[in-house]
Formats: sequence, structure tokens, C-alpha cells
Amino acid sequence: MDGLCCKPIEVFVFHAVSDKYDETLNLLTDWSSTEDFKTTILALKGNYCFIPLNEAYRKLKKDWVRTVSYAVLTCDDGFASVMGILPFLEEQQIPVTLFVNPKYMDGKTKREGYTVNPQYILKEEMWNLKSPMISIGMHGFEHNDATQMTKLEFSDSVERCMQILEPHPRYIPFFAYTWGNYSKMTQQVLSEKRIIPVFTDGESNYRYRDGIGRKPIDSFYLKK
Ligand SMILES: [Zn+2]
Repeated sequence: MDGLCCKPIEVFVFHAVSDKYDETLNLLTDWSSTEDFKTTILALKGNYCFIPLNEAYRKLKKDWVRTVSYAVLTCDDGFASVMGILPFLEEQQIPVTLFVNPKYMDGKTKREGYTVNPQYILKEEMWNLKSPMISIGMHGFEHNDATQMTKLEFSDSVERCMQILEPHPRYIPFFAYTWGNYSKMTQQVLSEKRIIPVFTDGESNYRYRDGIGRKPIDSFYLKK
């Protein structure tokens, strides 16, 4: 039924974006060149109508018929380089959700177990992001694997995230799992806190089920 009556809503995820690749700041798998990113966004804009994530969620819950091809743009980890691409997205009228780890917003704390040392968006910069085109979601207090935590640890990580991010004027109660890893336990914790789970499962979204599926944006790069 789904495919027949409803066009899917595609949710894309990207990470760091900068002009030049710097191996000390990012892993190649987490990085897009500014040129590739802009070209991809413009190409996608020709095929989709971009809407904010919470609007997509509402549509997935209530639409029975959907004739427009909608897309949503999301960005994980909150790398500082992303600040440089926000004016372009604003100019193109493309809403974006940033899923961040508040622990690294002090500009000092390093991400454990990460082989590079990226710079993150600072807390004061985050608080200056007030555009209605931007929304802020959670990606864990620190960038740890939710499925390797006890229920108490995961719940605590979500609570600490909420404590810091909830007062932000652009906060939305959505949680993107780190590396897309989740379990029945993590789903239960988010459900108890009325937080919408966001996956990285390569799926298109037709109707709302147990979370929102996403695709990496680089699967759409126009490879030369
Ligand atoms: Zn991440």
C-alpha cells in the first residue's frame, strides 16, 4: 500500500564540510568537500521539496496520500566546520537539523577513541543559532555506542543531553543514534521520554513506524 499511495520522505545525513580535507580534524568517511556538498544540495533541491524534520514527522504520522517528494537535511556530530555551510543552506532556504553531543561544546574535551581531533561547535555559537531554518537534536551526551550501555547509562546520557539542549530555542525532541546503533532497550528509553528516534539505516520513510530512517548524503554525490 505504502508505495502506491504515498511518495516517501527522504532524510539525508552529512557530517563535516570544508574546502580542503584535513586528516587531523576529520575521518574521510565523515567529511564532504564544500564543492561536492553544494553541488549535491542543488541537485537534490531540483528533485525534492526540503522541509524541517519535525514537519516530516507530522506528515509521516498523518498523511495517507503524499504526492510531493519531500526531503529533510540532517547533520550529525556538530563539527565546527558545519558553521561555514549554514549561510549557504539559509540562502537556499533549506532547513537543517544538527544532532550534537553537548560534551564537546566546551572546545576542550576530546572525543574518546576517535583517531582524529575535530573542532566542535562551541556552546555560545550554538546559542546564537536562532534561525527558524535550524533545529537542534540530540546525538548522546558523548559520542558513545548506545547499545554498549546499560539502560541506566543510556537514560542518563539522554537526560544530560536534554538538560543542556532543551532550553535552546530551536531544540526538538529527536535523537539520532550514534553510528545508527540501537536496541529494544534504547528504543524503550526514548519512548518513555517521548523522544523520536532517528536511524541511519538507508531507509526511505513512508509512514511513521518506530523512528525515522536516514541515508548518507554522499550516496548522492555526483561522482566524476
Ligand atoms: Zn555521529
